[in-house]
Amino acid sequence: MIPGRPLRWMVTHVITITGQNPAYRLTHRHEIDPPNLHTKCQVNLVTMQWRSAAEDWTEALELGPVTVLTGQDRGKYPHGNSILVTGKNERILVDPSLTIAERGISFDVDRILLSHVHEDHIPGMSRLPETPVLCHEEDAVGLTSLDGLMSMYGLPKEIEEQFRKEVLEDFSYAPPTQVSTFTDGATIDLGEANIEVIHTPGHTRGHCAFLIPEARVAYLGDIELSGFGPYYFDAWSSLESFEKSLHLCEQIDADHFVTFHHKWVVSGKDQFVSMLRDFGNVITERELAMLAFMSEPKSIEECALHRFVYRPSVNTNFVHHVETRSAQIHIDRMFKDGRLAQVTENSFQAI
Ligand SMILES: [Zn+2]
Repeated sequence: MIPGRPLRWMVTHVITITGQNPAYRLTHRHEIDPPNLHTKCQVNLVTMQWRSAAEDWTEALELGPVTVLTGQDRGKYPHGNSILVTGKNERILVDPSLTIAERGISFDVDRILLSHVHEDHIPGMSRLPETPVLCHEEDAVGLTSLDGLMSMYGLPKEIEEQFRKEVLEDFSYAPPTQVSTFTDGATIDLGEANIEVIHTPGHTRGHCAFLIPEARVAYLGDIELSGFGPYYFDAWSSLESFEKSLHLCEQIDADHFVTFHHKWVVSGKDQFVSMLRDFGNVITERELAMLAFMSEPKSIEECALHRFVYRPSVNTNFVHHVETRSAQIHIDRMFKDGRLAQVTENSFQAI
């Protein structure tokens, strides 16, 4: 009570409705002014701050409207690092990882956005079966059926059979009920936060990076900056496209760069560009090593057996297929640009 001021009773009820999407705070304010018995009643509906995802995800990193949902082992395959982008009107989950599939999530998600359609970027969809999914139009075939997804890899039959089982059983593959697509340059407006699509093909035809300018965060998907280098050995891959995409990524104006695997969050543009160039140099070094090996005539099979992608200690059923694809891709390119000559029907030699 303030001396000299009319006596006023004020009653305020705050009712919070949780579990809704979005959550609201309903404020009921009731004022009574005794001298003239005038009564005012006002009801306000205010959109609440989203509950922080970090409450539920102990290894989360908050970068403004972006929350990095760190995957198991910092996103080492088969796991990965997802991000959550929270705007005033909407919340979008990007690349729902195997960690999300295994752990579950206790927060609301309006839509799922995919950097590309690969088995390890989609298992968390199984926790959100009714949630609409967005991907680039060139990768949408992977969300239509298991056959559609398999067509993107182009594996030999004996490997594909086993891989189909893994995709169904270990990665919980199921085509989503609602899929929509986007193209390069699309912007998704979440209300005071935007996601800008940067088409970065090469790993797959529809691979995209996402820029969230309000957080100065770029999400790089499988442009993962690891020592392994770019992966461009699938039917849906292209070495030339990947190289162009790496150049394009140097232009991204951000301070934090999030990878799905391995590197997690790289902060600082200079550091990112340096790591991006090292990542791309794996391709150059591979070709130089092949040219040295091919000082004598060599076949694709001999190059594949020598190994220019995997270390000798790696022993999965994918190795020979990937080494053969890599040898084909590089021999084809180096023959076309005059670095190799064809010696016999099956052999090539460095010039
Ligand atoms: Zn991938």
